[in-house]
Amino acid sequence: MAGSTYMGIPRKLIPWHPSIDQDLCTGCSACFNFCRHNVYGQREKTSVVVNPYNCIVGCSSCLKECKTDALSFPDIRKLAEILNDLREKYKKTS
Ligand code: SF4
Ligand code: SF4
Repeated sequence: MAGSTYMGIPRKLIPWHPSIDQDLCTGCSACFNFCRHNVYGQREKTSVVVNPYNCIVGCSSCLKECKTDALSFPDIRKLAEILNDLREKYKKTS
């Protein structure tokens, strides 16, 4: 189960999780069935992201499961920049 911190940084400050384009999602459930971290839930006709901060920071392995390109993740280079800034901040406050 995903922790509430990542490298000492509160997980909720790290903007990393999948997003689903509801117009492209067919509700095939492939992402829901693939992820072991309970990030996804299911509605009547689509999947939804129910626990975004359970997503493992830097993981995007479910992306390949989606055949309609409904899934997307933030830019990994931007994530690296944000993590560097947050590490500095939390190093100073710890
Ligand atoms: S894999 Fe893609 S199309 Fe299938 S439920 Fe997930 S987001 Fe929707
Ligand atoms: S990226 Fe990994 S942890 Fe995040 S939702 Fe997809 S499979 Fe789950």
